[in-house]
Amino acid sequence: MNQDIRVRIAPSPTGYVHVGNTYTAYYNYIFSLKNKGRFILRLDDTDIERHVSDAEEVVYKLWHWLGIQWDEGPDIGGPSAKYRQSERLERYKAQAEKLVADNLAYHKEGAIFFKITPGDDVVFQDLIRGEVRFAREHLKDFVIIKSNGYPTYQFGTVVDEIDYNISHVIRGEDHLSNTPVQVLAMQALGGEVPLYAHLPLLRNADHSKLSKRQNHASLSWYKDKGILPEALQNFFGLMGWSHPEQKEVFGMAEFQELFSFDRVKATGPIFDVEKLMWLNGVYIRQLSVAELQGRITGFLQEYQPDVLAQINQSAEYLSRVIAITQERLKSLDEFWSAAHYFYQEPTVKIDQVIEFIKEDRDLASYLSLVFKTVTELENDWSKERLETKLHEVQAAASLKPKQAFMSLRLVLTGELATPPLFDTMEVLGHSVVVARLRKFIELLKS
Ligand code: GLU
Repeated sequence: MNQDIRVRIAPSPTGYVHVGNTYTAYYNYIFSLKNKGRFILRLDDTDIERHVSDAEEVVYKLWHWLGIQWDEGPDIGGPSAKYRQSERLERYKAQAEKLVADNLAYHKEGAIFFKITPGDDVVFQDLIRGEVRFAREHLKDFVIIKSNGYPTYQFGTVVDEIDYNISHVIRGEDHLSNTPVQVLAMQALGGEVPLYAHLPLLRNADHSKLSKRQNHASLSWYKDKGILPEALQNFFGLMGWSHPEQKEVFGMAEFQELFSFDRVKATGPIFDVEKLMWLNGVYIRQLSVAELQGRITGFLQEYQPDVLAQINQSAEYLSRVIAITQERLKSLDEFWSAAHYFYQEPTVKIDQVIEFIKEDRDLASYLSLVFKTVTELENDWSKERLETKLHEVQAAASLKPKQAFMSLRLVLTGELATPPLFDTMEVLGHSVVVARLRKFIELLKS
């Protein structure tokens, strides 16, 4: 372990986990893994008005879901024992009083202010932006302890960086303008100034910031949708950072191996949810059927237990359904809409079927030919046989393939888009196919 590299993420537990903050946490995690450093989770929980119960658990649960792990934190403890700002109020006060005693801060109106003294530019090193310089005359005295005794964000952060020996502050560029006063306060306390890396903020396609008002700014949205954590990890790797070979699909291990801040661009990356969906499809297709089955049942257990109860009858049947549906899935939450007809009788609209056959064709006679043919295939049920035989029926009925097979697909599944028809029929099985055909033919007659 490299004792010198210590990074941190300091979320404010509000019950809401922003995807941008998660991206920042992920880069911290990767950086610490790469350098065999330590990654510390600290809670900026001094905003008492925004306190929500469970908020901490929401952070742990969602970040664990994504595969982010920390070495120290309020949930797992660590050498510092305390990882919540609310538990360290005395410490912040003591540090502020020390500054007052040194004439670097003063009491006013019940609060304590940090004094900005005239002097040179404030300079710090940013691993993405290089040397950053701020003229001191633009900085104003600022509150470090509020009249209610709580530290401000600016001061709590400074005391924390020192106390937890943080070597690298990796955070969003929205904090860039906070850095000069933090550096001054850190120096006033005799602390060592860390290196900084201000990550570009994620943006929408129109370059606006991802705002809390948008569903997709919330991390839970991705979990609820059935995005695979490894797809989101990969997607974060594409945000700002670029692969040396311009690869788009790479896993966490590869990202960790190749990561460096030199390859992070300072301009705001576009968080394109469509692209993430595409990537998620890539990761879904990379899974073995057994793995995907595990992911799907886990997802259904959490989000659609009633569906799970319906499909749990046979694991073997489920694996055959998944094997032919896998290709089409972009997210786990699509499973049921893509596969319901393997479990439930479809609702078939007669008019819609007729539309494919065209009025001048005799749908009933075509379907009775299909019925006769599939009935005879009872002991010879395979997609290859179905394909050969049903092509013969299609030709005999003088139908175009689209007319014959789209109408049959609708009759058997109620859907216009399914896995290949003969694969679907093979999985549905002889008796279900015969029953659905029979029922539809009856319906046509009535
Ligand atoms: N609680 C702050 C935030 O989530 C921490 C910022 C920082 O990393 O300094 O924005």
